[in-house]
Amino acid sequence: MEPMEKLTLSSLPDGALRGRRVVVRVDYNVPLAEGRVGDARRIERTAPTLRHLAERGCRIVLTSHLGRPGGEPDPSLSLRPVAERAAEVLGRPMEFVPELVGPRVDEGVDRLGAGEMLLLENSRFHPGETENDPELAAALARLGDLFVNDAFGTAHRAHATTVGVARAVRERGGLAAAGFLMERELRFLAGILREPARPYVAILGGAKIGGKIELVERLLAEADRLLVGGAMANTFFGALGLETGRSLVEEDRIGLAGEVLERAGEKLVLPVDVTVADAIEEGARPRDAPRDEVGERDRIGDIGPRSREIFAAEIGHARTVLWNGPMGVFEVPPFAAGTRAVAKAVAAVADGGGTTVTGGGDTAAAVEAAGVAERMTHVSTGGGAALELLGGAELPGVAALSDADELGGGRT
Ligand code: ADP
Ligand code: MG
Repeated sequence: MEPMEKLTLSSLPDGALRGRRVVVRVDYNVPLAEGRVGDARRIERTAPTLRHLAERGCRIVLTSHLGRPGGEPDPSLSLRPVAERAAEVLGRPMEFVPELVGPRVDEGVDRLGAGEMLLLENSRFHPGETENDPELAAALARLGDLFVNDAFGTAHRAHATTVGVARAVRERGGLAAAGFLMERELRFLAGILREPARPYVAILGGAKIGGKIELVERLLAEADRLLVGGAMANTFFGALGLETGRSLVEEDRIGLAGEVLERAGEKLVLPVDVTVADAIEEGARPRDAPRDEVGERDRIGDIGPRSREIFAAEIGHARTVLWNGPMGVFEVPPFAAGTRAVAKAVAAVADGGGTTVTGGGDTAAAVEAAGVAERMTHVSTGGGAALELLGGAELPGVAALSDADELGGGRT
C-alpha cells in the first residue's frame, strides 16, 4: 500500500476548502469519569486539523465513537461532556447535537456559520455504525461536501463514520481526505518500512504473539535485528524447551515460535536472563535469573539486567528503530526496568538523528511513563490500526479515501 497516494488535507488547496461543509471523523474516545473528561490529549491532537478548516471558513461537523455502547443509546457514554471539554481545549464554541442523523442534525448543520463546528452524538449509539450501514453512511455524507478522516485508531474497522461515509461522499462527487493526524501516522508507520536507514532494529514485546504474527514475519524479513522481550519471549523460551514456570505463555503458539526461531537465525535476539517473582505485584520480591534457571513456581515479569545491556547495545547501533510491546509488566514498578532501559536506548537513537517509531497503546503509555515521549520521532496512538498497518495490511479506513490524483476531478 502506498498511503501517500491517498488524498491528504495538507495537499488540498484553500480553494477546495473555502466555505465548504466538512464532515470530520475524529477519535474522541476519551476516558470519562463521573461525566467529566479525564485525559483530553485526544481532543488536543485534533486542534491542527480543526483550526485549519475553521480558518478557511469551513462549516465543520464532527463525528466520533466513545466506548462500546453496542448500537443503542447509553447516557453514560454521551459525547455531550466531550463537546464541552472540546470547546475549552480548542478555544472555540462547539455545539452538540444529541443525535447522529435526523432532523435535529440537519437543523444544527444549517445553523452553522463559516468557521463554526458541532459534534454529533456517539456514533455507536446507532446500530448502523459498526455494520457500516449504507443508509446511515449516505445520511452522513449528505451533511458535507468533503469528508476528512483524522481517526487513525479506527482505520482498521469498516464502520459507517469511517469507510461508509468516505465512499458515499465520493459517490456524490465529493472528496475524502486524511486529516493531519492520520497523515502523520501513515507517513511514519508506512514510511518506516519502505526505505529504513540501516541498521534497522525492531523490538517486539507485550503480551501475545498471536495478534502479532504478521508483524513478526514482516520484521524478520525487513529488519536487521529483531529483539523480543515481554511475554512474547516466554513463548519462544517454551520453543527452546526452557522451563517457564507459571509465566504467561501462549501454549498453542509454541510450535509456531519454534518455526520462526529456525528460520530467523541470528537475526532474532531473545533475552538471556529474566526477572522473576512468585507473583507479579507491587510488593513482589523479584529475583534475576539466567533464562535456563527459571523455577517451576516462578513468573517471568521482565527481561533481566544482562538482557537490558545487550538490547541497549543493539539499539545503540541502529539508525532506524521500530518498537511495539513493553519488555515486561511495566505497570508494576518492580518489573518496569527492562521497558525503561529500552525506552531510554530508543530515545537516544532519535537524539542522534535516527528515526524512532513506537506503536501500540501500552507501548505509548510506557514511553510516556519513562519520560521520553517527546524525544521519539513518532509515538503512534493507533493501537490495533498501527499493528495492522505495520504488519502489511491495507486499512479499510485508508483505502476508502480519495486517491491523491482525484484532486481536480472531484466536484470541489
Ligand atoms: P501494545 O498495547 O503496546 O501493543 P501489548 O498490548 O501487546 O502492547 O502488551 C502490553 C502488555 O503486555 C502490558 O499490559 C504488559 O503488562 C504485558 N506484559 C509484558 N511483559 C509481560 C510478561 N512477561 N508477563 C505478562 N505480561 C506481560
Ligand atoms: Mg495493548
